[in-house]
Amino acid sequence: MAIPLSILPAKNLATIIPQFPENPKTLILEQCKTIKDLNQIHAHLIKNRLLHDPGVAENLLESAAILAPEPMDYAVSIFDKLEEPNSPAYNIMIRGFTLKQSPNEAVLLFKEMCERSARPDGFTFPCVLKACSRLQALKEGEQIHAQLWKLGFGSNGFVENSLIHLYATCGEVGVARRLFDGMSERGIITWNSMFAGYSKSGYWQEVMRLFHEMLEMDVEFDEVTLVCVLTACGRLADIELGEWIGEYVEANGLSGNPTLMTSLVDMYAKCGHVDKARNLFDQMPRKDVVAWSAMISGYNQASRCRDALELFHEMQKANAEPNEVTMVSVLCSCTVLGAVETGKWVHSYIKKKRMKLTVTLGTALVDFYAKCGSVESAIEVFRNMPLRNVLSWTVLIQCLASNGQGKRAIKFFNLMLEKNIPPNDVTFISVLRACSHTGLVDEGRRLFVSMSRDFGIEPRIEHYGCMVDILGRAGLIEEAYQFIEDMPIKPNAIIWRTLLASCRVHKNIEIGEESLKNVVRLEPAHSGDYILLSNIYASVGRWEDASRVRTQMREKGIEKIPGCSVIELDGVVHEFFAEDNVHPDSEEVYYATENMMKEIKLAGYVPNTSEARLDAEEDDKETSVSHHSEKLAIAFGLIRTCPGTTIRISKNLRICCDCHNATKMASKVFSREIVVRDRNRFHHFKDGSCSCNDYW
Ligand code: ZN
Ligand code: ZN
Repeated sequence: MAIPLSILPAKNLATIIPQFPENPKTLILEQCKTIKDLNQIHAHLIKNRLLHDPGVAENLLESAAILAPEPMDYAVSIFDKLEEPNSPAYNIMIRGFTLKQSPNEAVLLFKEMCERSARPDGFTFPCVLKACSRLQALKEGEQIHAQLWKLGFGSNGFVENSLIHLYATCGEVGVARRLFDGMSERGIITWNSMFAGYSKSGYWQEVMRLFHEMLEMDVEFDEVTLVCVLTACGRLADIELGEWIGEYVEANGLSGNPTLMTSLVDMYAKCGHVDKARNLFDQMPRKDVVAWSAMISGYNQASRCRDALELFHEMQKANAEPNEVTMVSVLCSCTVLGAVETGKWVHSYIKKKRMKLTVTLGTALVDFYAKCGSVESAIEVFRNMPLRNVLSWTVLIQCLASNGQGKRAIKFFNLMLEKNIPPNDVTFISVLRACSHTGLVDEGRRLFVSMSRDFGIEPRIEHYGCMVDILGRAGLIEEAYQFIEDMPIKPNAIIWRTLLASCRVHKNIEIGEESLKNVVRLEPAHSGDYILLSNIYASVGRWEDASRVRTQMREKGIEKIPGCSVIELDGVVHEFFAEDNVHPDSEEVYYATENMMKEIKLAGYVPNTSEARLDAEEDDKETSVSHHSEKLAIAFGLIRTCPGTTIRISKNLRICCDCHNATKMASKVFSREIVVRDRNRFHHFKDGSCSCNDYW
């Protein structure tokens, strides 16, 4: 079948092929790189009238649809010219469409095939079922299932396997399992389809059970199986089986499989054996982004946030590109540590790399800015998110609530309702907090009722706690007390503690005493509880009672939790404790603090002596309020940052009255915004006032 070389351009494949084979498949496999090459063979076949031979036509079709990497257009043009395409031709096209990411076309072609009475065969069904799996088209799959049963392919191993895969992918694991159990012979692929189905639906217990079955039946498993089982071990914290697999991997020389090793790292990390995970991780010669992410999120979940960030820096040095999962873990660590600079860097990196702002990543960013007190940045990220879910909205509402912008929080809550996103129980906690922080009593009452009436959410103890807080803060102490008495569930210590705090603000001694009694009855009280009651007495001048409570507290062996404030400067976290000399620059810090106190006194600040007096009585050494940890941290921030820079502090306890007053004054005198995150909320100090309106 030689063709004249002259009609072909030089350096064409034909120049090196003197003879065209009748089967273009061999040629494609050996020589063809492009559609153009195929085109020439096609032309040649037409010219020589070879295309009428169904075998030849089929080969050409297979070359175009499956072997050539191009899209299906060319194959379609060949297929359309076939006068009466037979089943093999349809099969090739269906396979090609599935292979080349057009499963929709594959299913449509199958429909056409049946209508044109080309009989589907044992090759057709696995292909079209695979297309259905890709599309998660359960209904179509079920129809095909019925059809193949009628045609007698119900016990064809390939077909059954494709069916199991289809049902498992579409979340119908029960159906998949029935098919699985009905099979007389099951290969490893079938087992793995079943494992994949359970994993996809999060049925981790079932994965374990199936694996034990496999072991009992002495069926051989492979690396795909192990990856699946390791994931389940991680989710269920089943370290025993996980370790068994770890030993198996080592004993059978499988340590070179990076996917398997990554799964092991992930399993150990999720089971809390972070150091063991790190050990394996370090042994991996090549680590992909999944391995890095597994390790970083392992540290994050184990609350070893500093290690997580350090490993992230190593990852960058190793030039590994982080992905969404990495970024979410890193942001969570930044949030916990209050590492503002690193978190901002992560944000700019996400922008620079044009990473997709998915719901998870976007929400993690909003949460980060929210917990660092950067309300405007949180809102900006939220607005730029292409998709948001109930968690994204809740995080933002929580952010506004804890940053003293209750009205705005409620505005966003209403916006959420307008967008038809139903709030969940956590959203209600956030929006009720917004009401309490802003003193919106009626709004709070309304929301509390609406929660169960309009959304079917039964209030939990946290919601009752919010209501007590709303009433208590507004000075409605008696009503709050009655509210607790009328609660359908038993109040816990937190509820009484909340009321106790309100009694302190509104100087209600009687209910304050009652509240402390209840706190002590329900759980070993914290030092803070006694101090609150003692402060109530002090605030009305009952010094003897105040010191009696402090003595009681000492007698019970309850120690005061030392206050600790943290400030991050240039990526370094500095910790300050009241009256401590641990900080390397403590002399300078105390000098700066004295200066700060002097300046704010000139501007009208008067130290709050009531609490200082009690502390002096309590401790032998003279504890002065002017050395509370947040004052040290703020003074340090003032001398170490440029004028005008916002100072951000986080504190482990509730900020005391005196520090609150002093910080208000400092924000005015030094023209600085000062953001303090205390145990409960944010305080944004600016121009001598605070976002909490002295209401915390
Ligand atoms: Zn203080
Ligand atoms: Zn405040």
